[in-house]
Amino acid sequence: MDKNIKILIADDSAFMRKVLKDILAGAGFSKFVECGDGKECLAKYEAEKPGLVLLDIIMPVVDGMEVLKKIGTAVKVLVISAVGQDKIIEETKQHGAVGYIVKPFDRKKVIDEITKVLS
Ligand SMILES: [Mg+2]
Repeated sequence: MDKNIKILIADDSAFMRKVLKDILAGAGFSKFVECGDGKECLAKYEAEKPGLVLLDIIMPVVDGMEVLKKIGTAVKVLVISAVGQDKIIEETKQHGAVGYIVKPFDRKKVIDEITKVLS
């Protein structure tokens, strides 16, 4: 697994972004880009070309599903959302999401999923 991969963390909660960043840093990753809404996420994706996107679904301006429709087949996107309905999870997979973690999550779940996605 390439720990030098650039990871875009998209979540409108600054606290959630920090939690995810801390978990990832603890696992040895060090290149992070953050954004707080879907529009910013699309702009940062274009500018930074991350190798992995951690994507929240419920975000202002442009939501995560719309982001996924635009970039889901171009980059590995792991959805991390409080939305746990099967229908939504299925829809994200149809748009290219490589995995889905339901909040609240624990550290191990996040690392396990990312390891799976990147190997
Ligand atoms: Mg949100």
